[in-house]
Amino acid sequence: MFNKIINNRKLKLIYIIYSIIFWSVSRIPRKKVVGIAGRFGARYGSSIRKRWKAVMERRYQEYRCPYCGKIGRLERISVGIWRCPRCGAVWAGGAYTPTTEVGASIIVTGVASEK
Ligand SMILES: [Zn+2]
Repeated sequence: MFNKIINNRKLKLIYIIYSIIFWSVSRIPRKKVVGIAGRFGARYGSSIRKRWKAVMERRYQEYRCPYCGKIGRLERISVGIWRCPRCGAVWAGGAYTPTTEVGASIIVTGVASEK
């Protein structure tokens, strides 16, 4: 009978220790990996969430305004239409980035052929 009590106490202690370990493991933040795609939870598949995250991080990055030259967040009015909140300039750019590589090359060649 005395033995049984000790065993019960041991089990209780082991249970408490394990619950503390599980609690602390479950509280480790996973936000760094998930980032802004965390709003989707477990939905849509991990590779699609990763691609969405890469696109959206590029969209909300800070860019240099091509008109006033200041670096900061640019507003996307609609798909491909961007506005600088500092100088108010509006231009056509990429769907998710203010300027695209192709767009930049067209501007460069256009300026070169005009001269
Ligand atoms: Zn500007």
